[in-house]
Amino acid sequence: MSKLLQEIDKSLIWHPFTPLEGGIAPLVVTKGEGAYLYTEDGRKILDAVSSWWVNIHGHAQPDIALAIADQAMKLEQVIFAGFTHEPAIRVAESLLALLPDKFSKVFYSDDGSTSVEVAIKLALQYWHNLGTPKKRLIAIEGAYHGDTFGAMAVGDRGGFTAPFGSLLFDVDFIPFPTEQNKDQAFERLNELTATGEVAAFIFEPLVQGAGGMNMYSVGILDELMSIARRNKVICIADEVMTGFGRTGTIFATDQTTHKPDLMCMSKGITGGFLPLGVTAVADFIVEAFATADLSKTFFHGHSFTANPLACAAAIASMKLLLDESCLRQRQMIERSHRAFAGKIGGDARVKDVRVTGTILALDINTGDTSYFNDIRTKVMPFFLERNILIRPLGNVIYVLPPYVITEEELQRVYEAIEDFLGA
Ligand SMILES: *Cc1c(COP(=O)(O)O)cnc(C)c1O
Repeated sequence: MSKLLQEIDKSLIWHPFTPLEGGIAPLVVTKGEGAYLYTEDGRKILDAVSSWWVNIHGHAQPDIALAIADQAMKLEQVIFAGFTHEPAIRVAESLLALLPDKFSKVFYSDDGSTSVEVAIKLALQYWHNLGTPKKRLIAIEGAYHGDTFGAMAVGDRGGFTAPFGSLLFDVDFIPFPTEQNKDQAFERLNELTATGEVAAFIFEPLVQGAGGMNMYSVGILDELMSIARRNKVICIADEVMTGFGRTGTIFATDQTTHKPDLMCMSKGITGGFLPLGVTAVADFIVEAFATADLSKTFFHGHSFTANPLACAAAIASMKLLLDESCLRQRQMIERSHRAFAGKIGGDARVKDVRVTGTILALDINTGDTSYFNDIRTKVMPFFLERNILIRPLGNVIYVLPPYVITEEELQRVYEAIEDFLGA
């Protein structure tokens, strides 16, 4: 049966980020429960990456499943222009209650990429509506903001974007700020933003995800936002990966003194059940659109904007997230990560090991750091043989588990990583 399904899959389906030839056949998953995925051929696989960072409370979490089922029996979807519904209103209320006071509205979309597109378009149209158009955008080297065109444009230019390079609009990139080169990054940001031509500065707060789990400090992020603010540039925090508890606080920018003006959320928001994107908007930006004038209206929307099922899932997920027991789990994960990082920190095969909140990342010493290196093809099969799902980013191995993972299960993952280093 499994073989048959895999053959049909191979002939009919094009998978994301996957070459059409040469890879291993995808595993057929029939069930998920807690931190585990169950495959059709009887395997039980520990999901150490929260299924691409979305599944924060574990698979098939029953409260969320029931909330969706309940909502589906009442209202599955409704056009969101001229109509509204309680789940969308409740999600907005609970998100805005968690965000700084400066945020006054949310705009719904479909996923992380569209939440970024909305933020970019809102920032550009803000300046347009004020009658002082600004067109430049600034991002950080190594950034990943999604795979649609606007999101690609503000992302790092590399192998993934090469075929589209000439079609992406111009963006200025500042160096990724480390403790060593942060002054250059500050200087560059100041230089670029002082021109008065910059509409917005977009960044992944504290951790760049797809770029290789690159981490930088709260102090650096605060200084970057402070420079942008001083030069009247809109700050867009892309919290698509970092949001919903991933970095220790509910949002990464909860840790900074300066706050962003636009905030993109997705991934963990529904607990990994359904896609949903949210862009939170600061009041001064809302103000620039607060008119009946159609030339200043934000003409943007998606068919499934604020889908009631996704909103119902988000409400249930948020309730779990804010529970004391979830906080204790996240603290346990961070403690375990730090202990393991301390243990392997001196290992010659590890170039760097780092932890932010529930994310552990380590660079394997290979010499070649590109995504297309050879480690990539070895890591996934190695861990899958041990029934652990770990998917590297180039030579970066990372653990980004669902918050329900136990201490023992984490130890299993760490031991497998040590085995890999020894192999
Ligand atoms: C995954 C990701 C996105 C894109 O989200 P999708 O839901 O995959 O479109 C954008 N920004 C960041 C920081 C991400 O990690």
